[in-house]
Amino acid sequence: MAKKITKKIAAKVTATMTSEEYVKDGGCACPVCKSENIMGESLEADGANVWNTITCEDCGATWLDIYTLTSYDYLKGG
Ligand SMILES: [Zn+2]
Repeated sequence: MAKKITKKIAAKVTATMTSEEYVKDGGCACPVCKSENIMGESLEADGANVWNTITCEDCGATWLDIYTLTSYDYLKGG
């Protein structure tokens, strides 16, 4: 019996902002319609990778904000 392969079909969207422009803007606006009416879910972490699913309330686009570990601070005890 053949394995059933299901492909997630994403709606084709055209981003108006590149990833670099989005980061430069502080991640404050939808990369598709530039609306600031965007909502983040809770942050998810796996080791040094942290991400957050963001949804645009105006055009319905969803994307991931991706964070990287840059340093540590406030070291105490030992
Ligand atoms: Zn949007």
